[in-house]
Amino acid sequence: MIRLRPALGDVAPYVPGRSRPVVAAAVEQALDVARLASNESPYPPAAPVLEAISAAVAGLNRYPDDDVVDLVAALAAEHGVDAAMVAVGNGSSELLARFALATCDAGDNAVFAWPSFVMYPILAQLTGAEARRVPLVGGRHDLAAMAAAVDTRTRIVFVCTPNNPTGCAVGAAELAGFLDAVPDDVLVVLDEAYAEYVDAAADPRVHADGIASVVAGGSHPNVVVLRTFSKAYGLAGLRCGYAVGDADVLAQLGKARLPFVVNSLAQRAAVAALSHKAECLGPVAEAVAERGRVAAALAAAGVESPRSHGNFVWLDVPGRAREVAAACERAGVLVRALGSDGVRVTIGTPAENDRFLEALPL
Ligand code: PMP
Repeated sequence: MIRLRPALGDVAPYVPGRSRPVVAAAVEQALDVARLASNESPYPPAAPVLEAISAAVAGLNRYPDDDVVDLVAALAAEHGVDAAMVAVGNGSSELLARFALATCDAGDNAVFAWPSFVMYPILAQLTGAEARRVPLVGGRHDLAAMAAAVDTRTRIVFVCTPNNPTGCAVGAAELAGFLDAVPDDVLVVLDEAYAEYVDAAADPRVHADGIASVVAGGSHPNVVVLRTFSKAYGLAGLRCGYAVGDADVLAQLGKARLPFVVNSLAQRAAVAALSHKAECLGPVAEAVAERGRVAAALAAAGVESPRSHGNFVWLDVPGRAREVAAACERAGVLVRALGSDGVRVTIGTPAENDRFLEALPL
């Protein structure tokens, strides 16, 4: 038996949402399974993105551009920031890992809401730091309690907005107050994986875009915003995410980066996605409309579900999560039970959403 670092003792490895049932791919296709367990886009990537990937394949004998120059330039232009304020990763998961590795040591702590993205406690524990979970209240971040949980050993704070799995977004004013309260030597990661789905028009007090509202202002260099191509851009299989923040802070955090971490297909495809942004983000409007339709149907059926700003909804089903997920799965709809009290359901195509609503045991 090899000897692992003691910090790994309590770490339960990441378990992804069921992306395939326990049958072969061919059977799955015949069964027409609705995959609503992993917050993916239900639609294939747009044609220009597929063309960019095809064009890049012939160059796979070469290492990718380690500086990710073209994609960084495109992202900097997209967000109106300097190129030095952008860092690209192998999915935003890899950036989260990079940041935890760069900031946390044994004896330190990481503060985040709970339930939230399941990688936060895993990453904290991998570094030997304490995973300090601050309970959500009604599916929402309790930012006052989070600020109170920060102490002299806190090295990183994750604020997931909209929050996976509940869908709630933090309020813009309360976030501003929270950022003022956190010491400026603590890294705050605003994880905005689902930013494109935020309906700020319907909910004007909500925080929508940390790049524009926090990073661009320059008043909080300790705040880094994370985005991904996995959700709204429909490129989860490509593994490409990015961070926008203070240039010096990102340079320091970049010390924990592995070489060539963003593959060449991802670099080319993401550039193509940005230059065909309207086409790539087309399905977002449908997802937002469908989210409203599903939420209304759930409310009519008496199922509690907090207002979601993500491409998913959260069903508050105390004690019944496994039963609800199993019933959906029997009907060919894969959803994600988290703990015993809640089920997260991704918004799929309108037909998939209908199937979910029909499968729901009431
Ligand atoms: N942050 C949040 C909140 C997520 O839900 C996810 C994916 N489920 C990620 C980050 C990671 O996404 P990716 O690594 O695909 O960019």
